[in-house]
Amino acid sequence: MRREKAIDRIENTKSWDFLVIGGGATGLGVAVDAAARGYSVLLVEQDDFAKGTSSRSTKLVHGGVRYLKQGNISLVLEALRERGLLCENAPHLVHHLSFIVPIYSWWEGPFYGIGMKIYDRLAGKLGLNPSEVLSREETLRRIPTLEPSGLQRGVEYYDGQFDDSRLAVNLAQTIFDLGGTAVNYMPVNALIKEEDLVVGATVRDLESGKEHTVRAKVVVNATGVFTDSVRKMDEPDARSVVTASQGSHVVLPKSFLPGKSAIMVPHTPDGRVLFAVPWHDYVVVGTTDVPVDNIQREPTPMDEEIGFILTNAAKYLSKPPTRKDVLSVFAGLRPLVKVGDAKSTAALSRDHTILISNSGLLTIAGGKWTTYRKMAEDAVDQAQTMAGLDERPCKTVHLQIHGWTKQAIDKPSLGVYGADAAAIEELISAEPALEEKIHPELPYIKAEVVWAVRQEMARNVEDVLSRRTRGLLLGARASVEAAPVVADLIARELGRDEAWKDKAVADYKAVAQGYMLQD
Ligand SMILES: Cc1cc2nc3c(=O)[nH]c(=O)nc-3n(C[C@H](O)[C@H](O)[C@H](O)COP(=O)(O)OP(=O)(O)OC[C@H]3O[C@@H](n4cnc5c(N)ncnc54)[C@H](O)[C@@H]3O)c2cc1C
Repeated sequence: MRREKAIDRIENTKSWDFLVIGGGATGLGVAVDAAARGYSVLLVEQDDFAKGTSSRSTKLVHGGVRYLKQGNISLVLEALRERGLLCENAPHLVHHLSFIVPIYSWWEGPFYGIGMKIYDRLAGKLGLNPSEVLSREETLRRIPTLEPSGLQRGVEYYDGQFDDSRLAVNLAQTIFDLGGTAVNYMPVNALIKEEDLVVGATVRDLESGKEHTVRAKVVVNATGVFTDSVRKMDEPDARSVVTASQGSHVVLPKSFLPGKSAIMVPHTPDGRVLFAVPWHDYVVVGTTDVPVDNIQREPTPMDEEIGFILTNAAKYLSKPPTRKDVLSVFAGLRPLVKVGDAKSTAALSRDHTILISNSGLLTIAGGKWTTYRKMAEDAVDQAQTMAGLDERPCKTVHLQIHGWTKQAIDKPSLGVYGADAAAIEELISAEPALEEKIHPELPYIKAEVVWAVRQEMARNVEDVLSRRTRGLLLGARASVEAAPVVADLIARELGRDEAWKDKAVADYKAVAQGYMLQD
């Protein structure tokens, strides 16, 4: 997946079947679906793939136990089916994880015992291991750092866990594998309309500064919390349909949760859900839910959010985490759709929404990572009908995502690359120095940087440290120390000079500040 190739195709393609705006879970899913049906597809992302909400999730592929409690069975059914499919289609990135609900009070027990059995049953043949009630002793054996005082028992259930931005990168690669094109750093600045219909967009290559005109039969707006800005390019008076709610996480050393199980707290004292999840040998704790008006590309966790997470985590962990223990913090913005617009042509599920404007702009928003494939299927089905394309069936139910393999990887640290791990090992064979780590505290080697630039369209230090590897989330300070090494390797690959390197490191430091807790 090379950026030059994408630009070349943009310059030499007169018209596409699909132009997808937005390179998060939703847009990538739509582009994969359309390409799999044999349509010509271009996806443009204004920043890097998954720079938005899609790299900032809790990293769960889940049915949503809490929706079950709200009685939203159809939503849970759909998500559980998608959970099962994603485990099959991207086994190198998604794995089963045990979650334990610690029961400290008698009235919480019955629902989470019986409710989990319903959850197991709803998953049908795509189900993971069955849930079970654990004794107090067994609960503490699985999670030795759980607060023992007042603990009565635990309820264990299984869900999926994944690496969100790695999946996004692999989906972008899948688009190429299917003959489609995806490109980062290419914002849509305006839509092109002819006879009141949207027929394409003008996009700007942020690297060369060049503008391109892209024509397409279908234009899909999959821009998450930026949905309304693109809708307003179509109709300046368009009603706002998306609001944003911020969710933050803190990352702690593994010692806070040394076992293999995650903790799920269904209601904190103020009624929220809290997860503490082992991830890449660290622990991710979150999340929050704070409505925000000001939509930023780089949202930062608020002090109150960090306070909420640490205070509540302290109630369930025998050693309370403090601000000093925090290795990184990150925030994401949930795109929440206000439904009920008279102009909307379809609201296909309570979870995600598809809107088609009078000029034919198809907007898809809402949902969650877990259901991205189903969202895409619904969007492409609607698009085919709207644009009068021949009706082709969806092909993604069993489509293997780039990197797919069920084989164990020789070097476990390269496991997330799946089938591509062998090619990274070849890079090391050709240049053994690439086996050196980029930083003693981070689990990444130089060959991964080279791979990210050559094959995964990484263009700068942040792309590598935040989304191709997860250094920024696993240790913000360590990642800043690794930035010069990463910049050197990128510069070597892309032929950049010293001035570029200095600026790349400075730009990265500025972003990483927002992931560190200031004392
Ligand atoms: C805190 C939190 C935790 C979550 N945890 C989970 C979880 O554990 N499991 C789960 O299944 N889901 C989870 N979700 C939900 C999931 O992350 C989101 O539903 C999903 O990532 C949304 O993807 P998206 O593509 O719609 O939006 P985004 O990822 O934000 O993508 C939209 C993209 O559009 C681009 N864009 C905007 N304007 C333009 C333009 N003019 N031109 C080109 N590109 C443009 C943006 O740069 C952005 O990259 C969580 C969400 C949050 C906030």
